[in-house]
Amino acid sequence: MIPVFDAHADSLLEVVDHGRDLPVADYVKGGVQAQVLACWIDPKIPPQQKFPYLEKLIAAGRQQLATFSSDLILARCGCEVEEANRQGNVAILLSLEGADAIDRDLDRIAWLRDQGFSAITLTWSRPNAWASSCFDHQDRGLSDLGRDALREMDRLGFIADLSHASQKTFFDTLDAYNGPVILSHSCAYALCPHRRNATDEMLQALKTKGGVIGVNFAPGFLDPDWWEWSKQLAQQERANVARIVEQLPPDPILRRRVSEEYIRPKLLTRRLPASRILDHVCYIAEKLGTSFVGLGSDFDGVLALPQGWDGPQDFPALAEGLKSRGFAPEEIVQIMGGNFLRMWHQLNN
Ligand SMILES: [Zn+2]
Repeated sequence: MIPVFDAHADSLLEVVDHGRDLPVADYVKGGVQAQVLACWIDPKIPPQQKFPYLEKLIAAGRQQLATFSSDLILARCGCEVEEANRQGNVAILLSLEGADAIDRDLDRIAWLRDQGFSAITLTWSRPNAWASSCFDHQDRGLSDLGRDALREMDRLGFIADLSHASQKTFFDTLDAYNGPVILSHSCAYALCPHRRNATDEMLQALKTKGGVIGVNFAPGFLDPDWWEWSKQLAQQERANVARIVEQLPPDPILRRRVSEEYIRPKLLTRRLPASRILDHVCYIAEKLGTSFVGLGSDFDGVLALPQGWDGPQDFPALAEGLKSRGFAPEEIVQIMGGNFLRMWHQLNN
């Protein structure tokens, strides 16, 4: 089986919010060698509760590592991923998605490193004290604080992840950061002009910097027609969702979860074929070569996964798909995981 390095999944949130376990058996079935688990803090969580929520996610991760200690090991760099794999374990990597829980307290970057984190996504889809996000009306790029944060990240050995970042944040960071830079879960803007995706100019700049982009499996980032359709659906259902949510206690996580569960079956009436993931991989590989593209599934962060990719157990089918698109075996190894492994190896230097 071809080893997989999935650069982004939100499964820790499922552990905390729903009491589920990580899909360990599916990692093994799918040949997952390394899984980056993102710690995303819902922007609706009040500021003073953000850091405690992050601590909760970390505690959940630790508890899962203890429960599945014969299958999972925490890793912080490429060497530790390889060591975990040699012992027959899946390497778990931790990433903070959005700096909101750190905000102005840059000492927390060292604390994150102590907790085993190896990557930070500078922003989620909202601006924060460090940088502008891709949905901001005014793109201010990196702030002075964001630049200080990058210096600290570089000193300690972090990957800077620019998925969700604005254009200016993206290019500012490529200029300012000396450490490794990735887009962990984004797609090609040329195929789907969504603000979350990378333009050709961004892709070329990422390659020049030596970074890697992980194609996201979210249908809204893969396909413009699906995105339009899902927006219309959300619009039509807005009043229904509001009616359901206003009967709930004012808990932002509960309210988000309930509205997601309401809309999910409706989104699943129109599943995008998984071949659309391959379209984006092929496009980026044609532009940049096969050394700069990988996978960032966004599993457990996507409401309606594509038809044919229900979870980590289906990575081998994706590898088969790459074969049918004419990629050579060594190129498939690069795309499925080798490229991201190379990025995490840079943390040893
Ligand atoms: Zn994300």
